[in-house]
Amino acid sequence: MTTEMTLSLRLLSPLALHRTRAGVQYVETLDYIPGTALRGALAEAYLAQHGEPDRVFEALFLSEQVRYGDLWPTIEDGPTTLIPATAQACKRHGLQHKNSFRDSLLDALSSHPADDRCPHPRCGEPLDKAGGGYLWDIQTVARLQPRSRLRVSTAIERSTGAIAREMLFTQHTLTGNLKDNSKKDLFFQGTLRLTDPTLRDELALLLNAGKLLFLGSGRSRGLGEVEIDSWQETTTDDSLSERWRRFNEVAQRAGGDPDKRYFSLTLLSRLALRDELLRPVLSQISPRHFGLSNGVEWACYPDSSRPVRFVDRVMVAGWNAAMGLPKTDTVALARGSVLLFWCAPSQEEAVLARLKEIEAEGVGERRNEGFGQIAVCYPIHNECWEGGR
Ligand SMILES: [Zn+2]
Repeated sequence: MTTEMTLSLRLLSPLALHRTRAGVQYVETLDYIPGTALRGALAEAYLAQHGEPDRVFEALFLSEQVRYGDLWPTIEDGPTTLIPATAQACKRHGLQHKNSFRDSLLDALSSHPADDRCPHPRCGEPLDKAGGGYLWDIQTVARLQPRSRLRVSTAIERSTGAIAREMLFTQHTLTGNLKDNSKKDLFFQGTLRLTDPTLRDELALLLNAGKLLFLGSGRSRGLGEVEIDSWQETTTDDSLSERWRRFNEVAQRAGGDPDKRYFSLTLLSRLALRDELLRPVLSQISPRHFGLSNGVEWACYPDSSRPVRFVDRVMVAGWNAAMGLPKTDTVALARGSVLLFWCAPSQEEAVLARLKEIEAEGVGERRNEGFGQIAVCYPIHNECWEGGR
């Protein structure tokens, strides 16, 4: 039995979360807080309270018993939607032409996909990829963009603690405001999942006691101060069969085979998989990597045997969990990547049972720091398929 807690953080100072390891002079920041950073900050808060690492520390931070999910920007508790790699919008004006926004995944099932153009009055530009970023309302295509700010800092000499000469670097930081200057409060929200329910009280104690956390880099310069705004126990999302039903309804309208049941897997966080030889699994990914070997096949484009997948790669800083030490950077599948599979109607029940596990437990390595979170039949794929037409 998994216990879930939803955690909301408020930024008190700008936050610098680097895409890769520092060491270059121009650094971009992520637009979310990775589970890795959250786990590190909570571990630090625990040590500040208790001193030395003890048995509870090991269970909370070094075991697989607690999974620290990524924290996404959110406002007013609305469910934030990640814009997947299948999203499209006006090539020229992007999401400014809101009615051009659509999801193209189910086009793959049609033998005559339409040549979509931006329907905005007097525009008619072709559509282009629009993946990345977030929506806080998919009906109104309301974008959720945290503001980032560029800071120029002086480097500090490690050996002396003094300002290094002629060493300046620029750094993007994330602020607790929205890019559209609205007055809405921005939070960062994510889920902690506990497979050992006896750890619930220990975690609750920590979340209640350590209101202030410190995240990311530049902490000696006052960056990365965050506050735990709230946390609560939540129940697991059980809408899977309903999402599956709606997805298949639209898949049929889009030209799907009536004898097949389709489902998509959308990566909500980075996915680190390895094959038997410990090499990263990237383009050779297949249903068996998700434990879906029985009767599950790739959906293919009608005119070829090409599988329907929209997969991006991303560099991640390596981490040796056993040693608790950094290691060489590695490559993972990027969040927002989408895969489309099908099974026979007779397999539906068995496949749904496994998909439920996939959503609850995640897939692949480093799940305790937020990797491998997957959504089955992510609603944006069917709800926004007809948009922009
Ligand atoms: Zn347009």
